[in-house]
Amino acid sequence: MNIGMKKRRVVILGATGSIGGSTMRVARALPDQIEIVGLSGRHNKELLLELAREFPSAQLCAGDELSAAWLSSQLGESSIMHGDQGLLDLASLSSADLVLVAIVGTAGLKPALRALECGKDLAVASKEILVMAGEEVMAVASRTGSRILPVDSEHNAIFQCLEGRDPTTVKRLILTCSGGPFRNASAADLRGVTPGEALRHPTWAMGRKISIDSATLFNKGLEMIEAKWLFGIPMEKIDVVVHPQSIVHSMVEFIDGSIIAQMSSTDMALPVQFALTYPERYEGPCVPLDLAALGRLDFEAPRTDLFPSLDLARRAGSAGGTLPAVLNAANEAAVEAFLSSQCSFPQIWEYVARAMDEVPFVEHPSLEQLIEADMAARNYLKGR
Ligand code: NAD
Ligand code: MG
Repeated sequence: MNIGMKKRRVVILGATGSIGGSTMRVARALPDQIEIVGLSGRHNKELLLELAREFPSAQLCAGDELSAAWLSSQLGESSIMHGDQGLLDLASLSSADLVLVAIVGTAGLKPALRALECGKDLAVASKEILVMAGEEVMAVASRTGSRILPVDSEHNAIFQCLEGRDPTTVKRLILTCSGGPFRNASAADLRGVTPGEALRHPTWAMGRKISIDSATLFNKGLEMIEAKWLFGIPMEKIDVVVHPQSIVHSMVEFIDGSIIAQMSSTDMALPVQFALTYPERYEGPCVPLDLAALGRLDFEAPRTDLFPSLDLARRAGSAGGTLPAVLNAANEAAVEAFLSSQCSFPQIWEYVARAMDEVPFVEHPSLEQLIEADMAARNYLKGR
């Protein structure tokens, strides 16, 4: 067994969610490599209590004061943090080496920046923060020398394919996409899609927001922009191929025509583990692949005519400035509207496209201007 690694002390922001659950499986399997020193959860305080009992040395951050008081009384402990300030404090814990951000949406941005400013490594599951403020996040990391470790399965795959290779030999990144539950749907089918149908992903079990994003393909659009920042690759070198089995998690094509792919079972524990133990590898909870049982792997072109998200993301990622932040915030707001039956499924695309046309564009925004653009996109949708 590999015993080379110093125990990594990890804070998990969003521990009660789907990525949080995969992370717990990794932490249970690798107690000699990973020590949980901080846990936050805004929803499901009962689960946060269970995790606190399982990992008693972890500092806790609840969603609000009331939940923090409830946890204090259950645990007989007074030092439980809460809210946005609590997340910032947890992200800068002196006992932590690495902060994993697995909060849905952009709420994890400020804690992520805080962790980097404190020189901690950052494992990023929350793609929205890189879409909104990728330039800022990467700049802070390069200033402080912190590492950014991708948890999103596609980016983790590309990270593995690129390891140790000369970046000037990369021809393009190929992100794989399951195609979502409506891969073969018609335009008429899409008009009648209900939240329940859209939440049923064919290959991955995930949180609600990312499940809808996978159905609209905005998830892949966000991931194209995420890849641009993580790997410093221009948008025109980032492609998408539909791969319904979700076994090849992404690929890199090199200038000589060679394509290197990363494959593993459809389980987020693997990318989480690789990010938390990087650069080491260990036997963890991820079930090995049985290729013969799988039999085949399929690939096809995405249907950009029916799913305009990839073109919108390419436009936003190429223009830069505030446009990716507007795309992301408009999408978050539209997904909420769809989930509460205030808009139809195809209206998600329509709202995002309109917000991108209407919200004023700033070419070189400060962080404050990005936050303003994000708010403007949300308010634009409220006015619909
Ligand atoms: P989830 O909804 O299951 O969990 C989100 C977690 O964040 C929960 O602990 C919740 O309490 C917390 N949270 C939500 N809003 C918050 C707020 N405003 N402030 C503080 N905490 C808040 O989501 P998930 O599926 O685990 O996804 C988390 C992130 O990881 C998303 O950005 C998603 O795009 C990304 N991601 C998820 C998967 C997956 O398989 N689930 C894969 C790749 C990337
Ligand atoms: Mg992904």
